[in-house]
Amino acid sequence: MSDRWDRQLRFSGWGASSQRAFAASRVLICGTGALGSMVATLLVRAGVGAIRLVDCDQVEEVNLHRQVLFSQHDADVHERKVVAAARALRQIGSDTQIESVDTTINTESIDSLCNGVSLIVDTLDNYPTRFVVNAAAVRHRLDWVHGAVLGGTGQLAVFRPGHTPCLQCLFQPDDFAPPTLAEAGIMPPVVTTIASLQALEAMKLLGGQGASVLTEFLSFDFWNHRRHAIPLGTPDPDCLICGRRSP
Ligand SMILES: [Zn+2]
Repeated sequence: MSDRWDRQLRFSGWGASSQRAFAASRVLICGTGALGSMVATLLVRAGVGAIRLVDCDQVEEVNLHRQVLFSQHDADVHERKVVAAARALRQIGSDTQIESVDTTINTESIDSLCNGVSLIVDTLDNYPTRFVVNAAAVRHRLDWVHGAVLGGTGQLAVFRPGHTPCLQCLFQPDDFAPPTLAEAGIMPPVVTTIASLQALEAMKLLGGQGASVLTEFLSFDFWNHRRHAIPLGTPDPDCLICGRRSP
């Protein structure tokens, strides 16, 4: 095994069997913006087998303070995000297969995007699409790592169909109102913090260390040093997505 991963192989919670499982995994990264740039960077550096990047936007100058895979040149030429991200990631590590899909994530596209993947990481910037991802994760029985950021705050959760509630057991789409990122702004270190936590939970799941995976819905106010945790508990049997009345 390459020296590249020596320092994570030495960690007692990881080891060669986790690294092999991780290297055989394909991760769907839903959104190649701020969270997606950092999650992809960390997973590629750690030696994940393959990632499927999805986004439908081009790089703009306003992205550059937080979207760490993109350069000034990418913004100047309005490069497609998945193209610029794939190019940067291939420079970081050639062991990972990088797949770019330039499309909108919606009810029509999500099932094919889930084909052949081991895990979904939610690096989206809006809740309507997160509920689309949630329903697909339940249909395909795929674990997914939720992350969200706004201003100085962030959220993190791991949803595991068959083991935990789904997003819609806990919240309804109407629970999440504006402001948007464009209105409330975002502090870059908040993004990289949540993305790092997402990458860590993804590594636990893919490396077969599921017993260590987060079992709470965490909300952080990093600006004021406050943290709120809601235990995930058990699935809602009446949930329209994952309960007994679901399709
Ligand atoms: Zn549910």
